[in-house]
Amino acid sequence: MVIPVAAPTRLAPEERAAVREAVLAVVDAQQWVLGPSVARFERELAAYVGGGEVVGTGNGSDALCLALASLGVPPGSRVLVPPNDSGFAGQAARAVGLEPVVHDVDPVTMGPTVELLSAALVPGTAAVVVTHLHGDPLDLVAIDAWRSAEGLLLVEDCAQAHGARPDGRHVGRTGDAATFSFYPTKNLAAVGDGGALLLHDPATAERARSLREYGWGERGSVDHPRGRNSRLDELQAAVLSARLPHLDRRNARRRALLDRYRKALHGSATRVHGDPVAGVAHHAVVLDARRDALREHLHRAGVGTAVHYPHLTGEMRGIAPRGGRTAVADRQRHEKLTLPCFPELTDDEVEAVVAALEAWRDAS
Ligand SMILES: *Cc1c(COP(=O)(O)O)cnc(C)c1O
Repeated sequence: MVIPVAAPTRLAPEERAAVREAVLAVVDAQQWVLGPSVARFERELAAYVGGGEVVGTGNGSDALCLALASLGVPPGSRVLVPPNDSGFAGQAARAVGLEPVVHDVDPVTMGPTVELLSAALVPGTAAVVVTHLHGDPLDLVAIDAWRSAEGLLLVEDCAQAHGARPDGRHVGRTGDAATFSFYPTKNLAAVGDGGALLLHDPATAERARSLREYGWGERGSVDHPRGRNSRLDELQAAVLSARLPHLDRRNARRRALLDRYRKALHGSATRVHGDPVAGVAHHAVVLDARRDALREHLHRAGVGTAVHYPHLTGEMRGIAPRGGRTAVADRQRHEKLTLPCFPELTDDEVEAVVAALEAWRDAS
C-alpha cells in the first residue's frame, strides 16, 4: 500500500456525518439551484474571510474568468500570470479573451516580486493574477503599491490558501477580486466541483452574479457579452457550509505535518518550502536537485509523491511577447516534489513518511 499524496474521500467520522446530513437536507428542501444553501454559504464564507461579497461559481477556473470579466478587464488586453501554477490563471485569461504573459518567480517564495513583474510588463497589460501557491500566502504590500501606480487590476487566486491569515488578515483582501476553488483536494473542499469569488465592490459583485448566469439582466435582457453558466450547486454549497467549521482545525493538522517533515529533513540538502506559521500547507513541497532519486527512494518506502506542477510554461510563451524569462520557475519544475499532506493521514502513515525522510537525510 502506497501512502497517497491526497485522499479527498477519507473524512473524519464527525465530518462525514455532517456532510451526509447536509446532502440529505438539500434533497429534502427540494431547491437545487441558486437557493438558500448557496446564499448561506456565500454569507458564511464572506464572514469567515472578514467581509466583502462572495459569489459562488461552478469551479475555481470559472471564478478566475468571472473575476477578470466582472472587473471589466478589456478584451484583448494582457494579464500577468504565474509561470508555475500549471496554467490555471493563463487558461482563465484566455477563456475571457485576454492574453496571458508569464513572469518569473522568486526562488524562495515561488511567487512574484515587483522587480519580476516589472520585467514582464508589456504595453496593453491591464491586470495581474497572483497565486498563493501551495497554501503559502504572498506578501502583497509592495506589489499592491506597484500595481496601483501602474493602474493595474489585481486578482488573488486563493484556491490553495483557504484559511491563510498572514498578519491576522485572511488572504484575498488586497486585490480587487479573490478566487477560490473547492475541488475535492483543496483545503476547503466540496464533494465535486465548486468555486467562489470574493469582491469588495457591490456593483462588481452584482455584475459577477449576472455573468455566472448567462449575463442575464433584471428585465429579461442579456446585459453582459461575457456571460456564461457557472453556478455553485445547492448540494455543494450545503456541504461547504458543513465543512467550513472544520477548516481551521484541518489546516492546523496540515501545518503540523509540514513541520514534522521540516524537522525530519533538517540538516539535509533537501529544502522544505513554506511559511510554517502563516501558511496552510495545501501541498507539502520540498526542493532537491536530486528530486528523481528522492522520489524513487520514497516510492520504495511506500510513500506516494506528486509534482506540482510539471507543466511547461512554453505554450504560454508562444503568445507572450516577453515571456520565456522564467529560468527560476523552469529549474524548480525539476526540483519540486510534493509529499503526502492532508489532515486524515493516520499517525502510522505520518511516521512512515518521517522515517523515509530521515533515512534520505542520513544517506545524503
Ligand atoms: C485548483 C486550482 C484552480 C482551479 O480550480 P478548479 O476548481 O479545478 O477549476 C485554480 N487555481 C489554483 C491555484 C488551483 O489550485
